[in-house]
Amino acid sequence: MKFKTKKEENWFNYFAFNQKNIEKISNIFGAAKLYAMGLMPVRGPIGFRKLDYEFAEKKLNIKVIMNQLEKSHFNVFGLVIKDTDGACTWDTKIGWNPTNRDLLGEFCDAGKDRNINILVSFTSMNDAYQGYLHPNRVSVHGKSGKKFGKQYRKGEISTHEEGEMRVELPKGVSIEKYKKEVPFLTGKIDEKEGKSRDARGKGYIPLTSFMCPNSKHVDYLLELAKEVVKNYPIKAFFADYIRYDGAFTDLCACSRCVEKFKEMYGKKAKMIKSKNWYDFKATTIVNYAQRLQETIKSINQDCITGWFCLPGPKKMFSRKRLGQDWTKLSSILDIASPMEYPYLMGTKDDGYYWKKLADLFYWYFVRNMKKRAHEFKSPVLAITNSVECNVEEMLKQMRGFDFGLGIAVFKYFGTSDEQWKALKKYAEEEIGLENLKYNA
Ligand SMILES: [Zn+2]
Repeated sequence: MKFKTKKEENWFNYFAFNQKNIEKISNIFGAAKLYAMGLMPVRGPIGFRKLDYEFAEKKLNIKVIMNQLEKSHFNVFGLVIKDTDGACTWDTKIGWNPTNRDLLGEFCDAGKDRNINILVSFTSMNDAYQGYLHPNRVSVHGKSGKKFGKQYRKGEISTHEEGEMRVELPKGVSIEKYKKEVPFLTGKIDEKEGKSRDARGKGYIPLTSFMCPNSKHVDYLLELAKEVVKNYPIKAFFADYIRYDGAFTDLCACSRCVEKFKEMYGKKAKMIKSKNWYDFKATTIVNYAQRLQETIKSINQDCITGWFCLPGPKKMFSRKRLGQDWTKLSSILDIASPMEYPYLMGTKDDGYYWKKLADLFYWYFVRNMKKRAHEFKSPVLAITNSVECNVEEMLKQMRGFDFGLGIAVFKYFGTSDEQWKALKKYAEEEIGLENLKYNA
């Protein structure tokens, strides 16, 4: 093995214990390194602060997209087949597909004649549509509190205003009429646009729900996964939002969860904020991962499974808020994918303050990975952003977060022409085309 940089060699040695699994993944993808570009079909043609079904239905041009990826030497295409709104962008019999299109099928067909493997990303617990349809499956607050200036009460379901996505009405359609199609919309409008991450969208504010991971929502998710793995020639299935809502620590205290908790820890066991409570959350998420793994592998043994995690402090964030046990989850699913987006927090292009802030996040994310890498028992493929940052920042992240298996970049729409040029050059000069395709 030849290394282009010292950093690359270090990470290779670090994950060397996993060489067998890395080779297995490489063989399935047909390349030593993965170079992935992600696309969120329901978030419109720029950025990702919009929810735009009309765009997905009428304007998304599969051929143009795949040509662009091929030209830039990407060997993996990551399609978000289910976003946080709950829309399922394939030909589904059980899910909700407001795009009226089999986008996954169209992309699979277009990928066939090219050296491009299809990876799907599947939002699990965050699901606005299911939250509307099944309020009894939404997670429930275990104590009263205040968040984002809003009061919530113990016993209430955790359906809140969405933080980053906004919705514009299709031309000539009123909000009342559009609500029949998109029932989780509110009549409230956010008209200001700011520079911080959660203030970049404009338009009608949708509601969003984190579903209870001990409810029938999980069965619904597994049925959807079955449909996808059975009917489409995908190479990888990654679970996103395989966690609780990070904004709260008191979820989920619904009667199902309380009963289960008491069964496990005794009738008198302290719930919210106890050690048992956090163990319970982690176990609940691990159980979902295990069931998802078994569901996928029982249909296609070679379908690579993965999951996304957010960098941050282990105890305060991953455990208490998200309920993600990195060691256990990476012992079950094939690839762990940390979301390394420091330059989404800010970019030099918005001025000195935002540059400084993002530099600080970059430093922290690198440090966090060095500190927590030992928790991963599987190969790691980080995903970083090309949108809302410049070429330099994008490349810095790509170099910094390649932990040996390659790098995933998000997202297709919003990547500038200059960045596309840099992405192509990165493949040619830094990854090496020989590493992107066997027998190239
Ligand atoms: Zn629950």
